[in-house]
Amino acid sequence: MAHLAMADPEIASLIDHERIRLEETLNLIAAENHMPAAVLETLGSVLNTKTIEGYPGKRFHAGCVHVDEVETLAIARGRGLFGAEHVNVQPHSGTSANLAVYFAVLEVGDRILSMKLAHGGHLSHGHPASITGRCFDFRHYSVDPETELIDYAQVQRLAGEFQPRMIVAGASSYPRCIDYARMAKIARSISAYLLVDMAHLAGLVAAGVIPSPVPHSDFVTFTGYKTLMGPRGGVILCRAPFARKIDRTIFPGCQGTSAVNLIAAKALIFKLAGEKAFIDTQAQTVINATHLAVALAGRGYRIVTGGTDNHLVLVDVGARHLEGGEVEKLLETVGIIANRNVIPGDESKPGAVSGVRFGTAAVTTRGMGTAEMDMIADLIDRTLAGAHDASCLAGIKGEVQALCKRFPVYAY
Ligand SMILES: *Cc1c(COP(=O)(O)O)cnc(C)c1O
Repeated sequence: MAHLAMADPEIASLIDHERIRLEETLNLIAAENHMPAAVLETLGSVLNTKTIEGYPGKRFHAGCVHVDEVETLAIARGRGLFGAEHVNVQPHSGTSANLAVYFAVLEVGDRILSMKLAHGGHLSHGHPASITGRCFDFRHYSVDPETELIDYAQVQRLAGEFQPRMIVAGASSYPRCIDYARMAKIARSISAYLLVDMAHLAGLVAAGVIPSPVPHSDFVTFTGYKTLMGPRGGVILCRAPFARKIDRTIFPGCQGTSAVNLIAAKALIFKLAGEKAFIDTQAQTVINATHLAVALAGRGYRIVTGGTDNHLVLVDVGARHLEGGEVEKLLETVGIIANRNVIPGDESKPGAVSGVRFGTAAVTTRGMGTAEMDMIADLIDRTLAGAHDASCLAGIKGEVQALCKRFPVYAY
């Protein structure tokens, strides 16, 4: 980045520090991944120049000959990869994608049934602080307090009582597969639309390592940057009859010009997602998460739902008389990066966050396997046990850095 270093040494240096931080820490944030260098090149390309209002062949500015091909390619690849009838690659974010789906087929004030945030849902699924919650009348379903799995009987009952016009399935901290067929059946029984938000799962679904919601849903939304290893920004998949409504709701409904560099990077990751290296990484991500859950459980940690089917492990640190935020801070001091998370049951303890969420996507992308998951479980456990011993923590930090060194994120 020679030009940047000349133009703005301050920002250049901050970027370099961030690069080093990524290399020297274990990234267990479930909502992140390390993307291929080709994605970063695409994001930093001249495609950033072009203003594109409208859709390929129907633009409001001249000079779109090449960027039209970029977007057409992204759409075609997205359809092929996910087996979708229609794809919109323009959403600026996952939240914009969800908002557009709501506005495409609902009226302001309409009823929507979605998963409770404290049980794994997402802000854009009707949290009062989100614009989605201000525009629509949301009610939420929960997990069963015993099994911590989605209570499908409750979903069915609430659907009958509340008569929502849309049901949302999908979550940001639910470690189990969702029964999409069952959700679809419930939605059909009350003539509601089914939206599946697979933001966290898109890479795993693309690789075919967990079931796809696409055959069961009217709409599927996701972001590029989680397991999928692509750029920021969102994508909407939908059935053909909704294509025009979705496109018009994104532009001009919710957004102006979209970002061609992001669209090109989406096209790129849709191509890479069909290749063996990507599929192997996604399969290993799930194996690693299962392994990490077993390794932590073996060290006495309670795992929410007892395990995982995907890339994330939700640990109940409250059961060890620890608080999620404190654990997050402590782990960061040794270079283990994860986030505190509410877990089912936290509603009854206002202010307390009893969970910590660990994701295996980024560490798997840099090449780690089950042996390293054992080491990571051990490092986490020793960190929490050695909370008050500075020299012990310094030793662990050294071990974390040594492990990271063996698995470079980017080879320069
Ligand atoms: C991460 C996530 C989103 C998306 O997000 P943006 O931050 O708006 O891109 C949407 N839904 C779910 C379930 C998520 O986990």
